[in-house]
Amino acid sequence: MRPGAPLTRLFAPRAVAVVGASRDPDKVGYRVVENLLKGGFEGAIYPINPTATEILGRRVYPSLSDIGAPVDLAVIVLPAPRVLPALETCAAQGIGAAIVISAGFKEVGGKGAELEAALKKRVRELGIRVLGPNCLGLIVTDAKLNATFAKDMPPSGGIAFVSQSGALCTAALDWAVGLGIGFSALVSVGNKADLSEAEIIEVLADDPKTRVIVGYLEAVEDGQRFLAVVEKASRKKPVVFFKAGTTEGGARAASSHTGALAGADRAYEAAFKQAGVIRARSLHELFDFARVFASLPLPRGNRIAIVTNAGGPGIVAADACEGGALQLAALSESTVTALKRVLPSTASLHNPVDVIGDATAERYQAALEAVVADPGVDGVLALATPQAMTNLEKFAHAVVEVGSGARKPVLAVFMAEASLKEANRILLRGGIPDFPFPDEAVKALDAMVRHAAGRGRAPLPDRLPADRAGVAILVKRAFDRGVITLGEAEAREVIAAYGFRGPKSVRASSASEASDAAGRIGYPVVLKIVSPQILHKSDVGGVRVGLASKEAIHEAYAQMVARAETAAPHARIEGVLVQEQVTGGREVILGMARDPQFGPLLMFGLGGIYVEALKDVTFRIAPLARAEAEAMIREVRAFPILQGVRGEAPADVAALVEDILRLSQLVTDFPEIAEIDINPLFVKPEGEGTVALDARIRLARNGDPSS
Ligand code: ADP
Ligand code: MG
Repeated sequence: MRPGAPLTRLFAPRAVAVVGASRDPDKVGYRVVENLLKGGFEGAIYPINPTATEILGRRVYPSLSDIGAPVDLAVIVLPAPRVLPALETCAAQGIGAAIVISAGFKEVGGKGAELEAALKKRVRELGIRVLGPNCLGLIVTDAKLNATFAKDMPPSGGIAFVSQSGALCTAALDWAVGLGIGFSALVSVGNKADLSEAEIIEVLADDPKTRVIVGYLEAVEDGQRFLAVVEKASRKKPVVFFKAGTTEGGARAASSHTGALAGADRAYEAAFKQAGVIRARSLHELFDFARVFASLPLPRGNRIAIVTNAGGPGIVAADACEGGALQLAALSESTVTALKRVLPSTASLHNPVDVIGDATAERYQAALEAVVADPGVDGVLALATPQAMTNLEKFAHAVVEVGSGARKPVLAVFMAEASLKEANRILLRGGIPDFPFPDEAVKALDAMVRHAAGRGRAPLPDRLPADRAGVAILVKRAFDRGVITLGEAEAREVIAAYGFRGPKSVRASSASEASDAAGRIGYPVVLKIVSPQILHKSDVGGVRVGLASKEAIHEAYAQMVARAETAAPHARIEGVLVQEQVTGGREVILGMARDPQFGPLLMFGLGGIYVEALKDVTFRIAPLARAEAEAMIREVRAFPILQGVRGEAPADVAALVEDILRLSQLVTDFPEIAEIDINPLFVKPEGEGTVALDARIRLARNGDPSS
């Protein structure tokens, strides 16, 4: 840690007290003292226990006030009810940070939850920073600080691991110790009564020893804060998260398509994308990604070469590269010439390069060297299978020889088990991550390429011109009337103030008024029912398109009102909207629903009535950068339809990007907008813009979706 960095007293303390130190080797209070000693902590260690005099050869102090020397950090291992009084004493003694290992708080509910609430409140007043409660503790290898009750201390290295689960910290430690993989820090955040992962990540982002931040998340409290911190961190170094509990729980108040589709996992997915976080899909991946980021240089591009001593695995690896961010490199002519010199005539000189089963380590190495030297190659997979002639140990040395000095990532895939043990050790010592199967290595490389490509993301766009005051009046008027849901006419007024274009539209309360309006608008027109109680107009026969004459309007008006009265007998029908009929475009949906953690979750996707059936939608959190708006459009499966298929003119994607940014600004400016659907948003051909054909808004006071 840099001196003067925030949380220095936690991450680089000069003296540590253990409150609740114990003489009993089966107790956590003993293990913490033992770990501090075994870890080689160079500052003073003060075990505190009113009844003991010596623990592990160390003098024991009856209380914190008996130490008589400055202490930076207290590790507290007391029963839950005694923790807060101990923190009071810490603060009184000028101890700036504490790790509360004790359990029995929020996680047990009832009294425990009350204790935690009290602790949370008091800690803020005292100004002492607290990690936990209910955590494993903290390891900082550089500071030789092992303030945990874990079994082992990992070797020093580039991985910082932040976890909401203490048990997972122990597993990570065992993995690290077993494989000899180095950590810079291991932070068990526990119940996060005071310090959240966001603050920890902020520190680790600036820690020169940390090359990759790896996290296990269960839930995030302040989503927007988290997003801001992680976004900044991921510009400095890779941030990889595994998010647990991705199944949906709890009912959501949703009267919109967006609300129905916007679950918690969609919000995390969006947040991770926007913050540049690499999402691991399993714990296995989490550790795989951690290893490659910690030990290899980042690729400059996505062109991958494969060198193998067997054809089959080469093809498997090449196939695995499909569909992600990777691309198979085309080897340069000089590389092919170099390969020709060192390989037999039966070898494949093109990517994947097959050196043939009888290859010696020398031949394998020569091929690797040629491929790694090719400037058109950004990353290399060194594949090997144990064939009769293969000496895997020598192969491992060859990969280390070429890979460890390379300025691009070289990953080993040695598809073996029995004959692998020693080769494994050679690769590990040489700093080359190895994998038993090609697809795992490809996924890790893919993560590296995505991270490398995503750095330096765009800043938020400037404010768009918008009539904010106008919307404020509309919102106030609705609240004054006790109206929560705005139908098409009113909702469109709101979005029009933020620059959304609508079709020409006139309200009419009789058939003849409607046909007069149609005369002014121009035939054909669309007729839509207007009723505060009817939200989905088509469902009650409340939308008629293609009305080309006065007679057609009269007939449609009568029928529409009659059908609506039957289908929704309690609805107050206020008349109809007569609308210009818009043609020649694609229907998309743009919407927003509020997520309890992350706030305004924007949705874009293929629109119309099949939205919920097809679920071809994607999400981001507002406010968002222009590049993210563009990415949303490219992400949906229907994107080719917007680009135009079979001679169709491409749709006005640029206008769509503007619309996403407009909506982003609207919902950022007005937390009172709980949900919004613009469906369909009609996207005309390039240069002709978009038209919002329908809109619906649900309001909530103070932006609280449940109010
Ligand atoms: P609903 O309340 O049922 O969602 P909409 O206003 O979205 O009603 O209309 C339903 C469908 O009718 C739209 O998806 C669109 O295909 C078509 N539509 C509505 N308004 C127009 C219009 N002005 N021009 C052309 N088609 C329209
Ligand atoms: Mg609609």
